[in-house]
Amino acid sequence: MSMYSGHIDKLIEELAGLPGIGAKSAQRLAFHFLNMSEDRVNKFARTILEAKQNVRYCKTCFTLTDQEECPVCSNAKRNHRLIMVVENTRDLTAYEKTGRFEGVYHVLHGAISPMLGIGPNDIKIKELIERLHDDVDEVIIATNSSLEGETTAMYISKLIKPIGVKVTRIASGVPVGGDLEYIDEVTLLRALEGRIEL
Ligand code: ZN
Repeated sequence: MSMYSGHIDKLIEELAGLPGIGAKSAQRLAFHFLNMSEDRVNKFARTILEAKQNVRYCKTCFTLTDQEECPVCSNAKRNHRLIMVVENTRDLTAYEKTGRFEGVYHVLHGAISPMLGIGPNDIKIKELIERLHDDVDEVIIATNSSLEGETTAMYISKLIKPIGVKVTRIASGVPVGGDLEYIDEVTLLRALEGRIEL
């Protein structure tokens, strides 16, 4: 038997499906929405919809952006011969926040995970290899230090080495299984500076 109306149950169910939202938070958020004015709820819903409809992949690095090409890729002052490979846009943002990386990025949108059935063709690896036809000095693999991140790093380095482009891996020191986005800037920079050639 439902404790609330069907509409409330449905809202709670949707919210509980969001990452990091447990049953209790979902309930709290649902009642928060119900207490908001209809105007505000409308604005909130529109904001989500507009973000979804207008945000797309950068045609070069595949990060999420409003433009055809993201601000990093379209910046002539960045070193376009130095590409850092990250798992997602959040990781890119973490490195951008340090303000110390002058190269460009490539966003994979995931990592290889046989357990979850995610193979090399499910993430943007082919697109990375295509970028190497232009002049590239170094590819820095900055995937997470999880099993999936390491597997992905190994797979990519094996693909790139025969092309003759230098491949490096950010240093560990990043806690195993740690998501890059939660790691502080000092650790990120140390990992970047201590990168080793694969
Ligand atoms: Zn880009």
